[in-house]
Amino acid sequence: MTTDTPRGQHAAAAAVADGDPSRSDVLARLISELGERVDTSDESLEAARSDKSGHRSSGRPIAVVHAASVDDVQRTMRIATQTRTPVVTRGAGTGLAGAAMGGPGEIVLSMRSMDAILEVRPDDLLAVVQPGIINADLNAALAAHDLWWAPDPASRAISTVGGNIATGAGGLLCAKYGVVRDAVLGVDLVLADGRLLRLGHRTVKGVTGLDLTSLVIGSEGTLGVVVAATLKLRRLVPGEVSTIAATFPDVRSAARASAAVTASGVQPAIMELMDATSLATAHAYLGIADPTPGAAQLIAQTDGPAAALEAEAIARIFAVNGGNVTVSRDREEGERLLTIRRSMHPAMEALGKTTLIEDISVPRSALATMFEEIARIEREYDVTIPTIAHAGDGNLHPNFAFDGERVPDRVWEAADALFRAALALGGTLTGEHGVGTLKRRWLADELGDDQWALQRDIARVFDPLGILNPGKVFVP
Ligand SMILES: Cc1cc2nc3c(=O)[nH]c(=O)nc-3n(C[C@H](O)[C@H](O)[C@H](O)COP(=O)(O)OP(=O)(O)OC[C@H]3O[C@@H](n4cnc5c(N)ncnc54)[C@H](O)[C@@H]3O)c2cc1C
Repeated sequence: MTTDTPRGQHAAAAAVADGDPSRSDVLARLISELGERVDTSDESLEAARSDKSGHRSSGRPIAVVHAASVDDVQRTMRIATQTRTPVVTRGAGTGLAGAAMGGPGEIVLSMRSMDAILEVRPDDLLAVVQPGIINADLNAALAAHDLWWAPDPASRAISTVGGNIATGAGGLLCAKYGVVRDAVLGVDLVLADGRLLRLGHRTVKGVTGLDLTSLVIGSEGTLGVVVAATLKLRRLVPGEVSTIAATFPDVRSAARASAAVTASGVQPAIMELMDATSLATAHAYLGIADPTPGAAQLIAQTDGPAAALEAEAIARIFAVNGGNVTVSRDREEGERLLTIRRSMHPAMEALGKTTLIEDISVPRSALATMFEEIARIEREYDVTIPTIAHAGDGNLHPNFAFDGERVPDRVWEAADALFRAALALGGTLTGEHGVGTLKRRWLADELGDDQWALQRDIARVFDPLGILNPGKVFVP
């Protein structure tokens, strides 16, 4: 665990810690209005200090409020506004950017208990849900209607739809089926002062005024609290699934093969890349035979009526680019192959080290060049950077593993070089995990000073007192 610096705490938090208003006054008001929803158990306060980024706030928050209704959220926000107390909204706490960590002088507002499906409309291909529902639970319920909500982060079994929206999450299927941004029609948002806004539409089209729904997607709890969402659904995809797996002599040829698939116009549902170190780590974790040393792996999956034909086309492209290819039309075998990719995070955890999971994205044609840059950075900074990639959309997760709680300076320097390389290739600092506390110091490098200031000013319109997730995303 890495402890967040006091630099990240907002002035309002400092005011509370200094006794203006007193922490006990805030707590008393919360308890008087929300009763048993207010949790000050050691266990809950400790858990609310961290997410899955390996970082932790500098101390315990005042309380965790388990909201059970929109009214609970509005009451909490009114108290927060009246007492100038910062609020960190939290879903399941699986975020990887240090964005859901609650610290001293802050209220953590947990949305996990608001997990109802309010409406499913197969005829309109939409559902209205509360934010605390787990992504996989929602999809299990939608399957009964022959429907699904496409965003599928690898954390779908443990993360909430509200958290997915607030981070703008992606996943394995998003090259073909889109990310959260493509799958939300509207959100109900409670503002910092407790007012409730209904943003967006129930219609496929809708251009009335500014698109504030899009602004909220990926805003990491800095603009308001999402208390409901109108989601755009798809029919379950009929037909078979084909899986194409290939090993390549090195990661650059695997990356070139994935770019060639994209350039060919064939659209896999999934296309995932693992470099040699990641592959070896996952194999060891699963207890399966070691992969060929140095070999990288590319796995693609096609679905729908054209699955078999598309799989043949992809297999040819993999082979032409040096891949040793196998194709399977068996769903279970496909899942087994993808399990290796999905086990990467637990495999890294099992090494017993702290892992900084990065999240850069580059244009897909630049994927091979980005891997060359990663190899250069490994040499220059004497670090190993096991990397997996959602190759179908150019999103890479380079991992830095180290001993101890604090990210070593050398790792931050290597990460800095990584971000700069991604930006130079026309890429971005974060494809799906968000900025949180981990990337806030690089935000202006990507946005430029003018856009950084404009974005921060927009956040202030929503939250003039700066009490919503302070210290995250926008820090001078
Ligand atoms: C094993 C593993 C695999 C992962 N794979 C992926 C992946 O493939 N793709 C991907 O995108 N991410 C992935 N993640 C990261 C993480 O799961 C996502 O960012 C997820 O969307 C976070 O959801 P959560 O409910 O845990 O949110 P939290 O971690 O609780 O919160 C994340 C952010 O959202 C805000 N927030 C949460 N709920 C609300 C709300 N109702 N209103 C306003 N703000 C809110 C918080 O303040 C915080 O800023 C992975 C994480 C793990 C541990």
